[in-house]
Amino acid sequence: MAKAQITIPLDIPDVRVLQTSVSERGEIIITIESTKAGTPCRKCGKWITKLHGRDEWVTIRHLPALGRPSYLRYRPNRYQCQDCAGQPTTTQNLEWHDANSPHSFAYDNHILLLLVNSTVEDVSLKENLSYERVTGTLERRVESRVDWTAIAEIEILGLDEIALKKGHRAYVTLVTGRLHSGELRILGVLPGHEKAEVIDFLRLIPFRILQTVQAVCCDLWEAYMEAVRQELPTARLVADRFHVAKHYRHAADQIRKQDQKARTATFEERTVNRSVSKTQRQFSSLSKKRRKPQQRRTENLETLLRAFRLCQTGLCFAGTIDCHLQHELIQETSSI
Ligand SMILES: [Zn+2]
Repeated sequence: MAKAQITIPLDIPDVRVLQTSVSERGEIIITIESTKAGTPCRKCGKWITKLHGRDEWVTIRHLPALGRPSYLRYRPNRYQCQDCAGQPTTTQNLEWHDANSPHSFAYDNHILLLLVNSTVEDVSLKENLSYERVTGTLERRVESRVDWTAIAEIEILGLDEIALKKGHRAYVTLVTGRLHSGELRILGVLPGHEKAEVIDFLRLIPFRILQTVQAVCCDLWEAYMEAVRQELPTARLVADRFHVAKHYRHAADQIRKQDQKARTATFEERTVNRSVSKTQRQFSSLSKKRRKPQQRRTENLETLLRAFRLCQTGLCFAGTIDCHLQHELIQETSSI
């Protein structure tokens, strides 16, 4: 019996689907061609429509479908200008792909949205992409211009810090806007995470849109909060629950570690105390001749115990001494 099939819209303007197939690895391969006629000449900027041929096949990553990665395959159209000297040719400019990118615009947006409240490593694992491919997406969007005319209002503005472990940037800021319809839109990627950079970006937002911002959601990074308080004083500042949870987890972990340390210390002190009493009992029952070596051990244990207590009360602050001492105590007591 034939498997049930479905048809879903590709949501890419001005293209025709020539073929769809599924690769051996289960990836969806969609072969398309552009139906847009012409492009602006790269020299004079005039709209040119004389087709000069097609470039080599290009394969780019696109949005996943039904849990499978998908790829678009196409041959870019090349047009020739009849007016410029030497009649130069220009590769067609597309609304859905930038010639230097291995991703469609839609896939770049998908990656950026995955980065909200996440890390480059996590997204690279989830999407099976290299670290560089994920940061490449961020780099392509740094300082790109926002088409504000396409936005009527922003209900919640989001500022997300993304830590980069490699490359010349340590952090970038992802700016998102949740629209009234619930749609989450990428507004920009700032090259850093400093207050001045955020302020510069907020000042680019037209006043008619700024007025509609009800809340700004960000992590607890002071630079973000200061920039928002200064530029959007009436908007509610909301700490992202992801970041609040992160701080709670950190605090809980610190308490757990302190408690663990205290328990271990008490346990070790008890063990040593027991050993000292035991050695003292043994010592008193020994003949005079055999007392001498045991006396040294009792004295040694008592000194160690005193030093250990000193460390525990914080009078001795050298951590390494504390460590050596614990090791010595454990050795000494285990030999009894
Ligand atoms: Zn021209």
